[in-house]
Amino acid sequence: RQHDDDEAYVTKRTQMLASLESVVINLDHGDPTMYETFWKQKGEETTVVTSSWQHISYFSDIKNVCWFLEPGLVSAITRLHKVVGNAVTEGRHIVVGTGSSQLYQAALYALSPPNTSTPMNVVSAAPYYSSYPLMTDYLKSGLHKWAGDAYTFNKEEPYIELVTSPNNPDGFTRQDVVKGDKGILIHDLAYYWPQYTPILSPADYDIMLFTVSKSTGHAGTRIGWALVKDREIAKKMTTFIEINTIGVSKDSQIRAAKILEAVSDSCNQKEAESFFDYSYKLMAERWKKIKAAVNKTQLFSLPNFPQETCSFSGRTFGQLPAFAWLKCEEVDDCESFLRRHKILTRGGKHFGASTKYVRISMLSRESEFNLLTERLPAIIS
Ligand code: PMP
Repeated sequence: RQHDDDEAYVTKRTQMLASLESVVINLDHGDPTMYETFWKQKGEETTVVTSSWQHISYFSDIKNVCWFLEPGLVSAITRLHKVVGNAVTEGRHIVVGTGSSQLYQAALYALSPPNTSTPMNVVSAAPYYSSYPLMTDYLKSGLHKWAGDAYTFNKEEPYIELVTSPNNPDGFTRQDVVKGDKGILIHDLAYYWPQYTPILSPADYDIMLFTVSKSTGHAGTRIGWALVKDREIAKKMTTFIEINTIGVSKDSQIRAAKILEAVSDSCNQKEAESFFDYSYKLMAERWKKIKAAVNKTQLFSLPNFPQETCSFSGRTFGQLPAFAWLKCEEVDDCESFLRRHKILTRGGKHFGASTKYVRISMLSRESEFNLLTERLPAIIS
């Protein structure tokens, strides 16, 4: 009987292991579900209740340049940037968007001259965020066109350079790279938060894009914001959103405001762990695990980041990016190679880089991440 039980146990275990091996791990998208556990603990504190008579109007504040921006979101954004010290908000106009994706397009619209015969060049240093070329060109606009890697751009023409810092996909801190003097910069600071990178000083650029997707993990709320120095540019970005979607969901803005306020509150409370403490520890733990997994093989390598001291937390650490920019040392097409091992990633060519690289999301739920760190070293053994 005992023997039968053991045998049944062994069979069941073997089947379970086989099925785990056959599970497809999808880490292609950067879906930030890893913060779900933190927000579950918050319960009622971050619950938003809305009645049917509320938020009916298209308008939020007609005196504001961005007339569909909820005043509660303005104060939540301003407060959080002050608490974290990652961006200057004084003397800036805030424009809200349906994710920072909409704001990216609004910025292109606002910065491209309307009456020229040739579209404005849009560049970003490779490896660049894979959505930029798609979002720039999908409507085949006469206003702007994707002009590729900023490192190789040498036309004597006006251009918009996107500076993503920390960068998606590789996690490095960045500056603008085009040497010309005809450029306008957009800073995409989606990952300039203390769980991903040491905060060094408040960012102080002309156009800065942020999003709740990567800061708090509420990608489904679809709220991003731009901090814009120039009133006319903020106005044009607002016009783009007016024509595109006649504003941005009030329900989402109010929910985002509640969440951002909860993050600021958590930083000021001594009793409970703050959101950034929680998320920093989780990212640090995951990076420790993935580095250990990669170090068990000769097949892969990961970037190395310099250590710096974070002005927000006082911790000294190297970047803990939202994505692992993994290099296959012995294989030319890393994406296909990993797909054969049922790990779905995004290959280097989408980012204007070599196919030896893939981008792997570090922001999945725990179970999926653990499967990844078990499967990677098993690939050679
Ligand atoms: N910029 C960068 C660098 C990103 O990685 C992302 C999300 N993957 C976005 C913008 C878009 O974010 P959102 O969900 O706010 O549209």
